Amino acid sequence: MSTTAGERDAGRVTVVGSLNMDLVIRAPRLPSAGETLAGRTFANVAGGKGGNQAVAAARLGAHVAMIGCVGNDENGAQLVAGLRRDGIDCSAVATDAALPTGVAMIVVDDAGQNAIVIVAGSNGALTTSAIAAHEKTIEQADVLVCQLEVPGETVFAAMRAARRHGRIVVLNPAPATGPLPRDWLECADYLIPNEGEASVLSGVTVDSPESALAAAAELREQGARNVIVTLGERGVLVLAEGEAGKHYPAPKVAAVDTTAAGDTFVGGLCAALAAKRSLDEAVRFGQAAAALSVTRAGAQTSIPALHEVPRWAD
Ligand code: ADP
Repeated sequence: MSTTAGERDAGRVTVVGSLNMDLVIRAPRLPSAGETLAGRTFANVAGGKGGNQAVAAARLGAHVAMIGCVGNDENGAQLVAGLRRDGIDCSAVATDAALPTGVAMIVVDDAGQNAIVIVAGSNGALTTSAIAAHEKTIEQADVLVCQLEVPGETVFAAMRAARRHGRIVVLNPAPATGPLPRDWLECADYLIPNEGEASVLSGVTVDSPESALAAAAELREQGARNVIVTLGERGVLVLAEGEAGKHYPAPKVAAVDTTAAGDTFVGGLCAALAAKRSLDEAVRFGQAAAALSVTRAGAQTSIPALHEVPRWAD
């Protein structure tokens, strides 16, 4: 009988990444420069790619530890309380005395378009010393996952520590501002960009499985080992070491809100890899979880629990 990620052997995932409070305003349209516009609704929503991926991995079956930094304020306290409700070990989440918790101001219009301004705040205070102090948390993990919303040298230090201990390293290079150094790419076992990030990192415009394969091949030239390009409703393109590229179409669903689809995919894939599933199974599992998440509104609120995700596809 087939099993889901957590049934066989829940693995350990450590996340090094951002914790943001998303301040979400819904408005009829996006404001233009100098304009004051009446919005419809406002909500504080827990976010940040690090936090979202931690929640996804935890709900999807892994034991998760977070290495991050919040400010000494209400937003920070709420974010940590939320992670704890999902069973995430927050003993390596520091509180910075000076900087505010990271925030993302998000305006969403009636057409679903958005405009976002992020202030990194305390995420910028996650330094390499946090990695040195919590190396045990990385050593004890089966999988380390990082994004690029905290200082780059911290991400690199975390990836190197995980490699030293023979752990699986997953890098979600988001946001991407340009090509990454070869030694960073060589540090990651799995590089998981979306279309835009793959384009920026590789210089190849990605808008199809074929162009994703070309970008993935270029990223392998640059030092990446296994490249997984997420393509929204078109699914995922995987270029694994020593293998031909493989396209996995996404499950067909009625999409309501694609926020955090990528984070759900990455968190689900990490939970599955940590549970010793194959890459093929982990990709299918991540896709099934991500497809479910797009049928629901919100970011962390949309991330499904393990029991909701369909069994392994054949
Ligand atoms: P990001 O949120 O980082 O931009 P993507 O949009 O590429 O990431 O989505 C990540 C994954 O989520 C996709 O590879 C796919 O598996 C799944 N997904 C996203 N949008 C849809 C959709 N409309 N229908 C089904 N699956 C989707």
